Amino acid sequence: QEDIFKNVISHAKEYGFIFPSSEIYDGLSAVYDYAQNGVELKKNIREYWWRAMVQMHENIVGLDAAILMHPTTWKASGHVDAFNDPLIDNKDSKKRYRADVLIEDYAEKLNQKAEKEIEKARARFGEAFDEQQYRTTNPRVMEYLSKKKEILERMAKSLDSGDLDDVKALIEELEIACPESGSKNWTEVRQFNLMFGTKLGASAENAMDLYLRPETAQGIFVNFLNVQKTGRMKIPFGIAQTGKAFRNEIVARQFIFRMREFEQMEMQFFVKPGEEIKWYEYWKETRLKWHQSLGLGNENYRFHDHEKLAHYANAAADIEFNFPFGFKELEGIHSRTDFDLKAHEQYSGKKLQYFDTEENKNYVPYVVETSVGLDRMFLAVFSKSLVEETLEDGTTRTVLRLPSVLAPTKAAVLPLVKKDGLPEIAKQIIDDLKWEFNVTYDEKDAVGRRYRRQDALGTPFCITVDHQTIEDQTVTLRHRDSMMQDRVKIDALRDIINENVSV
Ligand code: ATP
Repeated sequence: QEDIFKNVISHAKEYGFIFPSSEIYDGLSAVYDYAQNGVELKKNIREYWWRAMVQMHENIVGLDAAILMHPTTWKASGHVDAFNDPLIDNKDSKKRYRADVLIEDYAEKLNQKAEKEIEKARARFGEAFDEQQYRTTNPRVMEYLSKKKEILERMAKSLDSGDLDDVKALIEELEIACPESGSKNWTEVRQFNLMFGTKLGASAENAMDLYLRPETAQGIFVNFLNVQKTGRMKIPFGIAQTGKAFRNEIVARQFIFRMREFEQMEMQFFVKPGEEIKWYEYWKETRLKWHQSLGLGNENYRFHDHEKLAHYANAAADIEFNFPFGFKELEGIHSRTDFDLKAHEQYSGKKLQYFDTEENKNYVPYVVETSVGLDRMFLAVFSKSLVEETLEDGTTRTVLRLPSVLAPTKAAVLPLVKKDGLPEIAKQIIDDLKWEFNVTYDEKDAVGRRYRRQDALGTPFCITVDHQTIEDQTVTLRHRDSMMQDRVKIDALRDIINENVSV
């Protein structure tokens, strides 16, 4: 699995999807740039979401709120006081950990210790060694494994409930269970606010402290009444938005899974109080179906219902995806009650209420939110699409089986040779198709190698122009996944591609 993940990262770089940010200065940790192909794939995912949410729902409209907001927004939303992650420092190594990552690291070390014991035993017993039997009968190895599991489980629970003293005590317990894994040089576990601060204004005295938004949702809440009134929206209705969010993540690893600057695609659905659970269930199912519609395999998704709820929620679930490092959160669906709108009423002194003409009364609507990370979607799609295939003749090929609707380039047009007027015909085909699709031209190397290059880029079609084209206006149409080739009329290309790349 680790190898698969490494392949994903290097493929993303080698084929112009994702580069580390400011790489000539050795990069900036957990910040990435989308390159020439990545930007297209990302845009296509965003559009696929927007179409499903805004275009296909008469009662959902879009919004593009600013990243910078009045600082009181974040007081009202609870982010100033409660948007924290527990962290701990190791004074010895000067390393800083998010507490749950530390737990993972300990787990890893304890596993290594158990593995070492097993290796030693294998060396001692030689051929007669039976690992399974050894594990079940040798109390020393088992002690490590079971002790570890038991402490880690308790630790995860304490972390989840924010009981930091408990976490601290458990870390000490872990050190005793696993003495070789470190000294007692840990600082206290403490809370770290994840918002990036910045300043507005020229002079130091008059500057106003601002935050870069850690989520796009608040831009929707503060605009709720503006949109409702000007759009004459009737409850239930939704406001959708995509845009950048910033979090000063303590430990940012796993490539674009956890970034410090990332993009969210969020929709807040405003409903009548008392109807929120019905809509919460509706959106859970609807969002899962949206993910599954991409054809990456239904078995790669699952729900994780939250037992412990955030202060603003009365129901919450994640859609988890099977990433190269296991099932992790891809999207959150939250029933946020009237927490946000009420808080903004309180802090702003403005009414944020809806007049329900059927009920003939005012109320603060309840909110059901769907929130998905665009970069995480990118990683989900990209990692599941990247496959190494063994062909019938025993050779292998790397192919990025992206859903055609998301592919950065829909077709590559390739003249078989660089002469006899074939490049001119190829360019004419590009000029005809480029109004509707991203198409690309390639004349370098043998045609087989060009096919493989397009496979690795995820291009669903290659169109090859050869000498027969001059005679009968047909080209070879090669399909990425099946590698099958058809002979088709140039005039038919647009319809064929359209049929395959539309939703
Ligand atoms: P996690 O538990 O992974 O930190 P979260 O529960 O804090 O995520 P939310 O606040 O619910 O996440 O944000 C909604 C979505 O935004 C997540 O489901 C995820 O897809 C995305 N997201 C959140 N934080 C990041 C990040 N640092 N980098 C990339 N995407 C993120």
